[in-house]
Amino acid sequence: MGDALLEPDEIEEKIAENPDPYIDLFLESGDRYIRVLLLTVMKNCCSEPQWERTVSKIERRIEEKQAVTSTVEDDGDASAGYCPQCGTSVDRDDRFCRQCGEALEAGEADG
Ligand SMILES: [Zn+2]
Repeated sequence: MGDALLEPDEIEEKIAENPDPYIDLFLESGDRYIRVLLLTVMKNCCSEPQWERTVSKIERRIEEKQAVTSTVEDDGDASAGYCPQCGTSVDRDDRFCRQCGEALEAGEADG
């Protein structure tokens, strides 16, 4: 989906027809604009039950996605640390990553 930018009117029509691809698009890109657009259009164009279904669908899929993301992020908080560049585990007092040579931030500078 490289060229996803349509005219607002076109988007509204398409969302009203079938919001599912736009829910996916929002979840892939994390673009809040798409979410706002989805909710606005659904509210304008659809009956209330349909709108609420769409909202709960979006919320549920966001939660699913966040659950996956936070599980991945938990690994980054180990005692030693990881290279921000390549993700290789590094020792606390390593100044450079052994894998890619990235300069690692020291914990605290001495005075
Ligand atoms: Zn590295």
